[in-house]
Amino acid sequence: MPISTKISESMQKSSWIRKMFEEGAMLKAKYGVENVFDFSLGNPDIDPPQKFFSILKDISSKKIKGIHGYMPNPGFPDVRESIAKRVKADHGIDIKGEQIIMTCGAAGGLNVALKTILNSGERVIVPKPYFAEYGFYIDNHGGEIIPVDTKSDFSLDIGIIENAIDDNVRAILINSPNNPSGRVYTEEDIIALSGLLAKNAEKGRIIYLISDEPYREIVYDGVTVPSILKHCKNSIVATSFSKTFSIPGERIGYLAINPECKDVDMLLAGFILCNRILGFVNAPAVIQRVVAELNDVTVDAEIYKRRRDILMDGLSSAGYDFIKPDGSFYLFCKSPIDDDVEFVRHLQKYNVLVVPGSGFGTPGYFRISYCISEDVIKRAIPKFKEAIESL
Ligand code: PLP
Repeated sequence: MPISTKISESMQKSSWIRKMFEEGAMLKAKYGVENVFDFSLGNPDIDPPQKFFSILKDISSKKIKGIHGYMPNPGFPDVRESIAKRVKADHGIDIKGEQIIMTCGAAGGLNVALKTILNSGERVIVPKPYFAEYGFYIDNHGGEIIPVDTKSDFSLDIGIIENAIDDNVRAILINSPNNPSGRVYTEEDIIALSGLLAKNAEKGRIIYLISDEPYREIVYDGVTVPSILKHCKNSIVATSFSKTFSIPGERIGYLAINPECKDVDMLLAGFILCNRILGFVNAPAVIQRVVAELNDVTVDAEIYKRRRDILMDGLSSAGYDFIKPDGSFYLFCKSPIDDDVEFVRHLQKYNVLVVPGSGFGTPGYFRISYCISEDVIKRAIPKFKEAIESL
C-alpha cells in the first residue's frame, strides 16, 4: 500500500465525511445549488468586517522592511504585544507578548501545544460532543483521547471528569462555545474544574487545561465565555481569528499561556520549537500584522443569532428536540430515530445536508451549521418538517 496503515485507517474512519461531501455535490449538480440546503459546513459565510479590508489594503501597499521574510518562530514581537492586550481585555488577566505564540489557526496551535506536552501513551480527556479532529490531533503526538460524557444539556460533569483522571492524564481539552452543541460552559463549572486540577497539582500531578475557543466572540442572549486563564493556573488557550473575522482560509490564530503556569518558560520554549518543527515555521506574516490592528472589531454575531432563532422556531414547531445554543453557529439536534446516520441519509432525500452526531462522539444527534443565509434556512424548514413527518 502506498500510504501508511495508520493514515489508511484514519481515512476509513472519516470516509463518511468525504461521502457526504460527494453526495452533496451530486445533489447540487442534479437539483441546482439553490435547491440544496447545505447545513453541513462550518465555513463562515458572513463577510469579514470592513476594517479588515482597509487594514489589509493599507499593510499590503506599504513596503514594510522584512514583512515577507522569516521571523522569530513565535511571531513578530509587536504583534504578540498587541494580541496580549486583546487577551488582557477579554480575560481580565495580566499577560505579556512573551506569553503569546502566533499560530496557523487554532488547529495549528492545538497541534503545537499537544506536541509540546504529550509523552507517548499519555491521555487527554475531552468532554462530548467534541470536534472530530481532536482525535487525530492527539494521536498525531502519540496521545490517547479519552472522551467523557457531559450532562444531558451538554454542560460539564465534573464528577465524570474526576473519575477519568489517572496518572496518565496530561491534559483536559475543552471547547466552549462548543462545536457542535453551541454550549458555553458556565463560570461555576470552570471554577470547579480548575479546583479539581489545583487539587491534583498539590499532589504533584500537573494536568493542563487547554481551552479551544475560536467561537469566543459568537455568543447570544448576553452569555459571556468564562476565562480559564483567570481561574486555572496551568492553562492554555488555543484560538484563532477564523470565526472572529470570517477568515479561516488565512490560517491565523494564537496560543496564550497563563503566565503563572508551572514551568511557563520551558513550555513556551517547547511551543516555539514545535511551531518550527511541525513545519509551520511561523504564522503567516502579512495577516499577523493585519489582525494586530483589529483589537477593536469582531464579526456581527447578531446575524448568526437571527438565523439561530429562525432555525429554533422552525425546528421546534416541526417537532424536533434540541438544546438552545449559547454560541458558535451550530445547533445539535436530537435524531428522531436512534440511528443518526440513517436519519441524516433520510434528510438527504429532502435535499437537506447535515452531519451525524456520531462524527462528534455523540450518536443519536445531528449537527446543523447555520453558516447559510436566512432565506435558505426559511426555505429549508418545510423540508425538515416533511422529513420528520414521513418517518
Ligand atoms: N476547533 C474547533 C472547535 C473548530 O470548530 C475548528 C474549525 O472549525 C477549529 C478548532 C479549527 O480552527 P482553525 O480553522 O482556526 O484552525
